[in-house]
Amino acid sequence: MVVFACAECGAVVTTRVARVALPDHAGQKYGYGLLPSLLEPGTYAVDPGDGRPWQPLQPEPEIYGVRLMRYCITGPADRIGIAPGDVRRTVFIWERLGGCCCGWDGQYGPNLACAKCGHPVATRVDDCGFWQVVWLEPDAVRPVAVAGPVQRVMDWEDLSSTPPVDQRGYWSPQWEASVAVALAHLLTVSDGKQVAVPDGPVAEVFRQAIDALFPPGPPELHLVLAGPGLPAAITDIALVPRHPQTGEVWPCEAGAVVPLAADVWTYLAFHDDRRLLPAAYGMPAGVRRDDPPPLLPNSLFRPNTPAALIDL
Ligand SMILES: [Zn+2]
Ligand SMILES: [Zn+2]
Repeated sequence: MVVFACAECGAVVTTRVARVALPDHAGQKYGYGLLPSLLEPGTYAVDPGDGRPWQPLQPEPEIYGVRLMRYCITGPADRIGIAPGDVRRTVFIWERLGGCCCGWDGQYGPNLACAKCGHPVATRVDDCGFWQVVWLEPDAVRPVAVAGPVQRVMDWEDLSSTPPVDQRGYWSPQWEASVAVALAHLLTVSDGKQVAVPDGPVAEVFRQAIDALFPPGPPELHLVLAGPGLPAAITDIALVPRHPQTGEVWPCEAGAVVPLAADVWTYLAFHDDRRLLPAAYGMPAGVRRDDPPPLLPNSLFRPNTPAALIDL
């Protein structure tokens, strides 16, 4: 485990955290409500970024002697994301608190300073529509190894799933981001050849996008689920899980692999009924009557487009 310390004065500015893989929805903008934390407490993830340096957007005209400076929200490469509750001993930089609907969006650059020396160290993002996170500036902090419980890496079979649809019938934003990332991998490994997908939930979330992105015609390649708990699949392209802690992709003998976030993969592979035990006498009629029906989406699935994975 590590804590992160201010590179300027050495003050510790986080609790103890252990590294996990960066979630696919790290840069997602979704809806208009408050979203939960991007990362679990006690964890951190590194965003390699897209290679663009932190640059001001279009220069704004000077009005009444004041010029508004606006910055990319994406920030520099290798920012370190942590849960907002894991930050310690920082203070707001008031002139950089942009967003201001329900919180801050980080559009003016780092908005948290080290409370000891005043050096900008991080950007808090918690406005509506953003997954709440604090991005530590890679050059403003340094990791310090500390004693603590060793992070237990979960077995593949123990990984949980994220339901695809919420109570209102909306598709999960995590699913929209993760399927979009998997589609980008699929485009790369298929080399533009038409791909067949298995009927059922995989087709429900991939089919429409494949039809729109790939050239028409009979499929030349086949995408098949492969991973823990499934029989070994000999196929052109295997849709395999990516471990949420280590980022490891399930090792597979297929010609090519398309990694998919394990929480989405698990649901696609097992329809989330792995833990249901067979009942000896079936479900009593009264219980079945009161059991809520499965949640159904109120629209076709649409994976995120690059515009929804915010890079403004
Ligand atoms: Zn708001
Ligand atoms: Zn400091």
